[in-house]
Amino acid sequence: MPSEQPTPTNPLMIWRVDMRTQTLERQTVPESWQTLGGRGLLARILVDEVPATCEPLGRHNKLIFAPGLLVGHMLSSCDRISVGAKSPLTGGVKESNAGGSTGMQIVQLGIKALIIEDQPEVPGWWLLHLSKDGARFESADDLAGLGVYETAQRLLERFGSKVAIALIGPGGEMRFSSAGIQNLDKDRVPSRINARGGMGAVMGSKGLKAIVIDASRGSKPPVADLAAFREAQKAYTKALMEHPQTASYRDYGTAGMTKLTYTFGALPTRNFSNGQFEGAETISGEFMRQQILDRGGEGDPTHACMAGCTIRCSNIYAGADGKSLVSPLEYETIGLMGSNLGIDDLDVIARLNWEVNDLGLDSIEVGAALGVAAEGGLMQFGDGERALELLGEIRKGSVLGRVLGSGAVTTGRVLGVERVPAVKGQAMSAYDPRAIKGTGVTYATTPQGADHTCGLTIRAKVDHLKPEGQALLSGKTQVNMAGYDTLGACIFAGFGFAAAPKTIAALLNARYGWQVGADILQVLGRETITLELEFNRMAGFTKADDRLPEWMQHEPLQPFDAVFDVPQEDMDAVFNWTGA
Ligand code: SF4
Repeated sequence: MPSEQPTPTNPLMIWRVDMRTQTLERQTVPESWQTLGGRGLLARILVDEVPATCEPLGRHNKLIFAPGLLVGHMLSSCDRISVGAKSPLTGGVKESNAGGSTGMQIVQLGIKALIIEDQPEVPGWWLLHLSKDGARFESADDLAGLGVYETAQRLLERFGSKVAIALIGPGGEMRFSSAGIQNLDKDRVPSRINARGGMGAVMGSKGLKAIVIDASRGSKPPVADLAAFREAQKAYTKALMEHPQTASYRDYGTAGMTKLTYTFGALPTRNFSNGQFEGAETISGEFMRQQILDRGGEGDPTHACMAGCTIRCSNIYAGADGKSLVSPLEYETIGLMGSNLGIDDLDVIARLNWEVNDLGLDSIEVGAALGVAAEGGLMQFGDGERALELLGEIRKGSVLGRVLGSGAVTTGRVLGVERVPAVKGQAMSAYDPRAIKGTGVTYATTPQGADHTCGLTIRAKVDHLKPEGQALLSGKTQVNMAGYDTLGACIFAGFGFAAAPKTIAALLNARYGWQVGADILQVLGRETITLELEFNRMAGFTKADDRLPEWMQHEPLQPFDAVFDVPQEDMDAVFNWTGA
């Protein structure tokens, strides 16, 4: 690597861990990596270092943790950690980001990117401990098979309550393509998951059960112009606090989305066979908030996943006895494990959610797989107890459990089900794309596989049922989202940045001493997507992969009789600025 020296305003370094030799090398950051972070940096490293045709669970894949460019300063909702690798679920580029405390502590240790390479020669489980002293490996065989809640508890007792932890559950150990990586939230609950694309399986393939990050002797990253940074921070925070959506997400969390998707006829119901669920009321954000308040005890309708977040869209959902059932209970889980399974009881959805969390799995992918399984005759829609039994099969690692844990597409293939809601092997989030067509374009064209966080268009003031203009809308939204993911900003931080767009350049210039212009979000977004497309092209993807499933083009979705009819030419032009 080039021998760029860290500068006082940019002292971060690349930490490269070799799982075969159990060694750490600290390297300076190559010039072309300096101006990237988070999702953009992951894409750059994957293109530069990972053979695109490699086996995702083999020794040549790399698991990369990269905090975004603005992480480390307790800017509201801007301390996320991006994790990336070649995905075992999609076979393509993957970035999955999460809140919690991992991002902040990685930066405080001076890490620009943590790159985990190769595999142990002898099978076994390992714990990687990172601190100012460097890296230390410890056997984690005693933790093998344990769920993430028990594992995190033991690690906190061993290493103290101040550390950050990124860990996998039994799902990652069994290398399921639906496995994610759990991170501690600010209250030390392992609940913030890098969920999508099987990053937990990649971590499992490296023999890593957990990474413990101890930044107790670390420090906040320096800021080139502190006064300018503070001023921009103030303007951004003010814009965020004054935005009406901030209050809505504080009160109802992401679950506030249930009523909106119901209204649009886009709430996945019984394996995406309808856009409205008759039980939507009792799984809505409004109902959940009231129930949490009525029950009291440990429940809390407004909770922050990371220190300093002023939106606090998270929650603690408690049962009738006031004891926590799960935290958080999010819209995507409600959509995929509630209405999509015909379940209208939040207590049941919370139990399913706890199980999936403890297994360390993506609730979107598993919820979609269970929906396909129900259609294939393995459970009745609405039967929560049977859904729990099926999760038990996943925990046991039975053949059936392994099929379900491999995701919706594998489940559909094994059961002969055509109605599988997935693109590039990855299940759709809880927005039926026939009724929110811009998001359908995003699902189809993003290099990441179906994923609403790559470009959710539901808040745009357009007719979501009309095909015209959706590709343009999706393209713009995707660029912005790739930019936010490169900053380390939560999707909801976008409310503040959209209201005060100049603050993005102001923050970056003050932090790094740069001179970037007002279009920096789009510059970062375009660069990121261009790199991701390049990786996927080298992995063998073509435009033929940028399509929604065929059945969505001819099976009308009720109540609006909607099919997905955005012209292919429009979708193929989404990224025409790349020249691809
Ligand atoms: S808005 Fe929600 S998801 Fe985003 S940082 Fe805050 S609590 Fe976490």
